[in-house]
Amino acid sequence: MAFARRPGAKSGILRRMSITIRIPTPLRPYVGGSKEIASDAGTVAEVLTSLSATYPDLKKHLFNEEGKLRSFVNVYLGDEDVRYLQGADTLVPDGATLSIVPSVAGGVNQNPVTHLSEPDGALSHAEIRRYSRHLILPEIAMSGQKKLKQASVLLVGAGGLGAPAAMYLAAAGVGHLGIVDFDVVDESNLQRQIIHGQSTVGKPKLQSATQRIKDINPFVEVTGYEEPLTSANALRIFADYDVIVDGTDNFPTRYLVNDACVLLGRPNVYGSIFRFEGQASVFYAKEGPCYRCLYPEPPPPGLVPSCAEGGVLGVLPGVIGVIQATEAIKLITGIGEPLIGRLLLYDALEMRFRELKLRKDPACPICGEHPTVRELIDYDAFCGVPARNGAAHEESHGVPEITVKELKQRIEAGLEKTNTILIDVREPYEWQIAHLDAARLIPKGEIHNHLHELSQADEILVHCRSGARSAEVVKFLINDVGFRKVKNVKGGILAWAREIDPRVPTY
Ligand code: ZN
Repeated sequence: MAFARRPGAKSGILRRMSITIRIPTPLRPYVGGSKEIASDAGTVAEVLTSLSATYPDLKKHLFNEEGKLRSFVNVYLGDEDVRYLQGADTLVPDGATLSIVPSVAGGVNQNPVTHLSEPDGALSHAEIRRYSRHLILPEIAMSGQKKLKQASVLLVGAGGLGAPAAMYLAAAGVGHLGIVDFDVVDESNLQRQIIHGQSTVGKPKLQSATQRIKDINPFVEVTGYEEPLTSANALRIFADYDVIVDGTDNFPTRYLVNDACVLLGRPNVYGSIFRFEGQASVFYAKEGPCYRCLYPEPPPPGLVPSCAEGGVLGVLPGVIGVIQATEAIKLITGIGEPLIGRLLLYDALEMRFRELKLRKDPACPICGEHPTVRELIDYDAFCGVPARNGAAHEESHGVPEITVKELKQRIEAGLEKTNTILIDVREPYEWQIAHLDAARLIPKGEIHNHLHELSQADEILVHCRSGARSAEVVKFLINDVGFRKVKNVKGGILAWAREIDPRVPTY
């Protein structure tokens, strides 16, 4: 796909703004916060080229160095992926809507998941009482309830999405739930992870979730895996389950879940959330596309903000997690029309659902006609993130550093006296939660507008919440601007709160 500038795009006196381009939340900061942008009709290539000419910051998020559309960005005309129309040459006519769908993170199947065994186990009187509202639904009835009892569902993660999914699947009578999670309940989880509560703060999420599930429905068997999901254990764990519910929040695990599901022939009930928007689909390679058909490659690290960085409306994972539970129940019982081959987009602020068609990509590296991925790979390397080492999350990021203890000494000695400035590159709403009086706020996205205020002669110390964003700014100042005396405050304001001043609130 080549993208040429439209001849004379800017020269016309009458610029008819006749099409609508929908901008997804993660890309809105690069277009002045706009949700929709009006543009001229033209081909997809013309529309996107003109868009990135107007918003230069957006360009690197849409196109790679060769000027090709990035593989983790999908473009839809109406509800059709332009890859399956005429690609970049697809004409976007007057009145049309073009949607950009980056990774944010088939047909109709009227049959239940094919490898499920036939139900035989009869329900006890207590189970009949418990499930009576299901039993009087003709679509579920006794046979459907027995299928649920015989079924097993694995929840990857007991967080925002896994919490409501697990609770409803347990309540619905899914006989066996598996949960993979090695995290500990933190107070900041309780805003959305409703399976946990005040009484389980500090306890393993697995223990907390199991307690709650057993309280909802003692007939459910729960198997816990208190370990990170890896290429070494995924196939072994997944093999015992009929349906996998993906509640992960990072790309390496998302691709791992997808690939393990494809290799084992399991349906992958996918959900993802960001700020006020969510996505859901069922990736089931036997019947339709997989996640890699949609996004063959992950975005480079740092280009798509994580949930922790971007925030999330607490009820949002409730909506998406319950959609995932619904799809799992439909797959098990074989009722309704599964979300296979469809990507459901939910916008909580507009209170609107939209649906995009997904197609199986014959060239998909894992479920296509000539797959190149035949076994699980190193997903951290694939996604370009440093290997996770468990406990300490304060890797050095490969930039010069200063510890919070050293920073405290420097502040006490007086920053001006030593020609030192401290920059906080977080967002204003984070500054409102907590900040250091000695720091100056310049949000990361605005740093390039403030370069003239910085001096090569000064030593520049940069901090953020945990040290990751500030490390990117340090890299930018050293590599792209040419500053020499720049250091990253290791561990950010969280380390300051932990090691220097416990009165500073953490978030
Ligand atoms: Zn695929």
